[in-house]
Amino acid sequence: MTDTASDGERADRSAPPPPASLRLTVDRDALAANWRALDARSGSARAGAAVKADAYGLGAATCVPVLRDAGCETFFVAHWSEVAAVIAHVPPQQVAVLHGVRNEAECAYARAVGAVPVINSLEQAALWAATGGGTCHLMVDTGINRLGIAASEANEAAISALDIDILMSHLASADEADSALNPRQLTAFQSVLGAIRHRRASLANSAGIALGEDYAFDLTRPGLALYGGAPRPELAAAIRPVAQVQAAILQTRALAAGESVGYNATFTAPAPMRVATVSMGYADGFLRSRGPGNAFSHNGRRLPILGKVSMDMVVIDCTAAPDLAAGNWIDVPWNIADAAQQSGLSPYEMLTVIGGRLRRD
Ligand SMILES: *Cc1c(COP(=O)(O)O)cnc(C)c1O
Repeated sequence: MTDTASDGERADRSAPPPPASLRLTVDRDALAANWRALDARSGSARAGAAVKADAYGLGAATCVPVLRDAGCETFFVAHWSEVAAVIAHVPPQQVAVLHGVRNEAECAYARAVGAVPVINSLEQAALWAATGGGTCHLMVDTGINRLGIAASEANEAAISALDIDILMSHLASADEADSALNPRQLTAFQSVLGAIRHRRASLANSAGIALGEDYAFDLTRPGLALYGGAPRPELAAAIRPVAQVQAAILQTRALAAGESVGYNATFTAPAPMRVATVSMGYADGFLRSRGPGNAFSHNGRRLPILGKVSMDMVVIDCTAAPDLAAGNWIDVPWNIADAAQQSGLSPYEMLTVIGGRLRRD
């Protein structure tokens, strides 16, 4: 037996990994304050919370307990695979699954764990009833044309047979306050409320909350604004940033004039300069589109990005901070409300691309 093999025999495969070289810090107070601000702006309605896509990339394990403790009692995910992380912290009947039930296996899982499907079609309604029925939610499509029954299907027997808690619809253009689609969808939603038996009605996402109390009904469903995005200027003053991203310097180096940096040598040093290689790449959600013209920072000192963003690394110009060394933490620009940092991405995309290698603090 070789030494390597005997080392393998002794390996402790469950040893905890050492601390990561990149981290996402969630400002829990800001998250709770954002939920409370949106709940207050929902008037007599209560605010729920969209926590799909791992709480928009910020981590359900971190965000769900904060939202629960702030007072939130209704949580929305898209997939059944997202349920376990949420019901670890809240009662399962408070969790709504937006994609609904596509087959018997999903119905069985819903009943086993107690999370509630959002029924999206007559077929889903029939499947839910055939597998045992019970409380569900219902999505009515009023103009976004993605998921949901048509308003004209409201009187179908498969719908009348359902035990519906939340009757909901989703706005297509709530971030455009003067879009004619908003009042059209509002009217269409109001017209089905009398036709379908339900306990709570819900229409507004984050931007919809800014459209006023007519849009609030019994329950609002903010997502983006909880996590620091302000899809409408009316919300900007009330919403605090939540996510902060930092990465460690792996190595610093001195470049001579004429040396280049990164794949395809797209940056060439015009003079001798000090640079640092930082543990943050496109696999972590810092996409290539965010590279050119952007800068990282340290204590407010601007550290421009040099060359192309790699999968696991970015090289920065340390001229403004010659004291920096391996191990120092660098601020990565991730303020989703700052248009200058978006580089062609929507604020939703900026959050949900945050990679799994970041330690969630
Ligand atoms: C994602 C989602 C929300 C939350 O939308 P935001 O724009 O992030 O506030 C609300 N309702 C439904 C149906 C959704 O899919």
